[in-house]
Amino acid sequence: MNNPLDPEEFRRQGHMIVDFLADYYHNISNYRVLSQVEPGYLKKKLPSQAPFDPEPIETILQDIEEHIIPGITHWQSPNFFAFFPSSGSIAGFMGEMLSTGFNVIGFNWLSSPAATELESTVMDWLGQELNLPKEFLFTGHGGGVMLGTTCEGVLATLVAARDRMLRQIGKDKIRKLVVYGSDQTHCAIQKAANIAGFDPNNFRAVKTSRSSSFALLPQSLLKAVEKDLRDGLVPCYLCVTVGTTSTMAIDPVGVLCRVAKDYGMWIHVDAAYAGSACICTEFRYMINGVEYADSFSFNAHKWFLTNLDCCCLWVKDPNSLIKSLSTNPSYLHNNTSNSKQVVDYKDWQITLSRRFRALKVWLVLRSYGLSNLRNFLRSHVEMAKIFEELVKLDKRFEIVVPRNLAMVCFRVIPSVAKMANDEVNQINRKLLDSINDSGRVYMSHAVVEEIFVIRCAVGATLTDEKHVMMAWKVVQEHADAILNWYLLNYSFNQPFIS
Ligand SMILES: *Cc1c(COP(=O)(O)O)cnc(C)c1O
Repeated sequence: MNNPLDPEEFRRQGHMIVDFLADYYHNISNYRVLSQVEPGYLKKKLPSQAPFDPEPIETILQDIEEHIIPGITHWQSPNFFAFFPSSGSIAGFMGEMLSTGFNVIGFNWLSSPAATELESTVMDWLGQELNLPKEFLFTGHGGGVMLGTTCEGVLATLVAARDRMLRQIGKDKIRKLVVYGSDQTHCAIQKAANIAGFDPNNFRAVKTSRSSSFALLPQSLLKAVEKDLRDGLVPCYLCVTVGTTSTMAIDPVGVLCRVAKDYGMWIHVDAAYAGSACICTEFRYMINGVEYADSFSFNAHKWFLTNLDCCCLWVKDPNSLIKSLSTNPSYLHNNTSNSKQVVDYKDWQITLSRRFRALKVWLVLRSYGLSNLRNFLRSHVEMAKIFEELVKLDKRFEIVVPRNLAMVCFRVIPSVAKMANDEVNQINRKLLDSINDSGRVYMSHAVVEEIFVIRCAVGATLTDEKHVMMAWKVVQEHADAILNWYLLNYSFNQPFIS
């Protein structure tokens, strides 16, 4: 066998894979967006044992074409409108490729000084463009770190918040600490609270409602906090969401912070998807009040042309993270760390080993420039506006909550009086299934206040206006079929049967 890192073989195979992916991107619209395979499909295709003898890359690539691609849901397809986008790019890919190529593990400064220093620099660049207050930047005694996902960021900040509060009130009080969010807050927060040892009964999913577009209201938060105080509990952490996953609700950051601050809570602003848009002045208002928060994060891997994974997290007080998360085994001792002149990112996160993520964000920022990044984000918002207008023109549909950014939440409402909500939901579920089974587009759903909502999230890198128009046509065609069937079969005594 050649050495597994033989430079010439690397060159040959590397070119093959790039060619393979270039063809994939070229032909991506020909694939059904949502994979249609049955569970267990792959087991039937692959041998039951790993190969004893080596196989050439050509054979392996053939199997990728034949067996893996059918089981891929094409997130990079221009017809992908589900969940949130995973907007890859050439720069994001090249940065990822460089990072994988160097394959360094930058747990502390010394283990690869460039990894740490580029990360700190790029986090300050980004923080400035998001117009974060200086306290979040390294130039202002705060700082940013690139983690894998928001889940990790939330867990890191929760642990820091927990320990900060316990230092004041005593370690034995951990079961008294309360975490607040809304009933729209991402499930990651409750999971992190459980992992961090908070009492599962002390997670408050404060109720929101459609009448306020599912945003967390300060008076509702205050009520929950006051009740907990009466019960002898200790408010500890508030997650404010800018752009909720279900319907893109925007919690009012400033007023919520004012409530939480009075009780000494740690405030985290989770802008996983929407944060990217804050580099555009017209969308920056969404995080007004972030100056009162303790931490802020967004996912560059959602809507910032950065290939998975990269969650950007800023904190005002890095020491609170370090106090909770630092480790100091003798095998990592070194003079630069001892000098306290450098950032050792292992102390800002859950894991020890970490990827050189800054490269790809640096390449994205440099390759496209802020001007193009802003245009990219704005173009998706404009396309979502077009989709929203088309929905509004068709009287069979309704927009469930006013659109924010590039996500449209809609549903069909059959024009039969007194139809039970369950039945409307069932029709929408059926509609979405039939849209997705067509393979022509992929959208996803949410259920809010017992309403089944179809979500159309514009944001795939390859999407342009014609794809959005086509997506709407697909929705209409399937709605025609389902509503016709329904009107033929419906009677008031006989509930709609799926
Ligand atoms: C996507 C999302 C998350 C989870 O992000 P991961 O990076 O997958 O952990 C959390 N919060 C919000 C608001 C999100 O949209």
